[in-house]
Amino acid sequence: MQKFPFDQIDDLYRDVILRHYRASRSRPEVHDPDVEYDEYNPICGDRVVLRLRVVQGRIVEAGFKGEGCSITQASASMMTDALKGLTLQEAEDLADRFRLSLTGDVPPGSPSGGLGDLEALQAVRAFPVRIKCALLGWSALEQGIEEYRARPAA
Ligand code: ZN
Repeated sequence: MQKFPFDQIDDLYRDVILRHYRASRSRPEVHDPDVEYDEYNPICGDRVVLRLRVVQGRIVEAGFKGEGCSITQASASMMTDALKGLTLQEAEDLADRFRLSLTGDVPPGSPSGGLGDLEALQAVRAFPVRIKCALLGWSALEQGIEEYRARPAA
């Protein structure tokens, strides 16, 4: 697996990404998830299995299991931190904003801000093949929510 060129990015970004990458390995599991989505990127072997507990349209627990590169795992870790307490709609809005911060024509540090630690991932903007890694967990989120909504109420 090709390593992310950490020596080419800002120290602050690198520290945030690595901190989340390490933390991602010791996260508590989410039991009896309402949303579960397994997203896999065959190109680099990255995987994120996202699990959410949803109560009255709000995410009360968020976690994931995964394997793969530091960017994928760090991004999923930051995402699950950011999701707790959000409604599903707010989670989708956050996913849109995050995606735009990586792929859109937005100068770093501008109004797209307010993403907290996630802003560190703007470092991958300069490495297009890694954008897919940073978005893998988010893609699991969007598809998981879609599946959840499509499911008939129990
Ligand atoms: Zn990757």
